[in-house]
Amino acid sequence: MRFYTAMTSIKTRLGKTHASISKALKDSDRKDQVLLLAVSKTKPADAVREAWHCGQKAFGENYVQEGVDKIHALNDLVGIEWHFIGPLQSNKSRPVAESFHWVHSVDRLKIARRLSEQRPEHLPPLNICLQVNIDNEASKSGLKPEEVMDVAAQVIELPNITLRGLMAIPAPSATKEQQSIPLRALKTLLTDLQTRYPDSQLDTLSMGMSDDMSTAIAEGSTIVRVGTAIFGSRDYFRSKQP
Ligand SMILES: *Cc1c(COP(=O)(O)O)cnc(C)c1O
Repeated sequence: MRFYTAMTSIKTRLGKTHASISKALKDSDRKDQVLLLAVSKTKPADAVREAWHCGQKAFGENYVQEGVDKIHALNDLVGIEWHFIGPLQSNKSRPVAESFHWVHSVDRLKIARRLSEQRPEHLPPLNICLQVNIDNEASKSGLKPEEVMDVAAQVIELPNITLRGLMAIPAPSATKEQQSIPLRALKTLLTDLQTRYPDSQLDTLSMGMSDDMSTAIAEGSTIVRVGTAIFGSRDYFRSKQP
């Protein structure tokens, strides 16, 4: 087979990322695990294939058409798991409901309803997270923190999706102390949900990217979404949908 870059490159970067995750878990006295989601947006299918050969199984995509194309191109890869993490318009929800295993970026009830309606009967329920605009930035998508309880109460009733937890993309901040504030707020929101729904599968805090991964793990992240640190910087000029 043909590799996208020198085999060692993605392999080395993945190894370093795993080492950082282990260190962050150890430093925060956590005995549980964190799922590494390799964010492959704008990267060719061959890069994903290469990472899969290095043992990476979970991949994150931001754009519907690009993601679906890769899922089809890579349907020979056993055990691969696809997570949709980008903004989702309701008129594009069907291919996501049909092809992905997870959606992290559900930011309104309408999208959750459509995903549930459109999830094919022969597939297990789609795992979803509610995206929260945790630092209340005007420009950003996501539910307001005070909306989460009400939306969750309705989403949890939908038949073909499983509410797994919360996701956020905090604004970049300079220090670890500043990074911690929104991450801790998201954790508190998840704890509130878990208290209200003790029998649910609410086990997921999707937070932490290349730049704030260690802080996110210290604050209880269960899925870190890492692109640049694994695949290198993104070349948006070659992407169909920047
Ligand atoms: C691109 C992206 C990431 C990965 O970002 P890096 O800084 O490259 O690690 C994570 N989460 C979301 C929602 C993204 O869009």
